[in-house]
Amino acid sequence: MTTYTQEQVSKLVDGTLDWETTLRMLSMPKDTARFSQYLAALQQRLNWADRIVLPLGPHLYIVQKADSRKWVTKCDCGHEFCGWRSNWKLDALVYVRDTEDAMAEVYPKLMAPDTQWQVYREYYCPQCGTLHDVEAPTPWYPVIHDFEPDIDTFYSEWVNLPVPERVD
Ligand SMILES: [Zn+2]
Repeated sequence: MTTYTQEQVSKLVDGTLDWETTLRMLSMPKDTARFSQYLAALQQRLNWADRIVLPLGPHLYIVQKADSRKWVTKCDCGHEFCGWRSNWKLDALVYVRDTEDAMAEVYPKLMAPDTQWQVYREYYCPQCGTLHDVEAPTPWYPVIHDFEPDIDTFYSEWVNLPVPERVD
C-alpha cells in the first residue's frame, strides 16, 4: 500500500496537493499512517499545546489538555467550550433564523423554507465568531447533540494507536 509523506498530507489539509496525487489518494484505501499524519498537519497549524484527540469539524476538536489531561471540546482560536462528552452547542453563541428577513440573507426571495415549519440555528464560537455548525430543525425541536464518538474503539480498531490518556 502506498504511504505518503508528511508534506503531502499537510498539502492535502491545505488544499494545495497536486491533483494527480490527490486522485491517487482518493482511489486507494487509506494507509495506516494517515490519521497520525493528518493530526500532525492539523496540530502544526494551532498555536496551543493541547493535543488533538479527534477533529470534529474544520475548526473544532476534542483535545487532551496539556496540563490536566482532561478532554475538552475546543475551537482552533483556543476557546474551550466544555468537557468532550457534553454538547458544545449549549455553550456556543446561537443565531436562530426564524423570520422571513433572516432567511432572506440565505435564500432568494420565495425560495426559503416556511419558518413556521423550519428554522436555522447557527452555532458560533463566542471568542472568534467561527461558524461551527448549522441545524435546520422544526422550531420546537431541542438542540441536537450530534454524536458521541467511540474514541477508544476508533483508536484501537481503526487507526491502531494507543488512546491518549484521559482524566474525566
Ligand atoms: Zn473560536
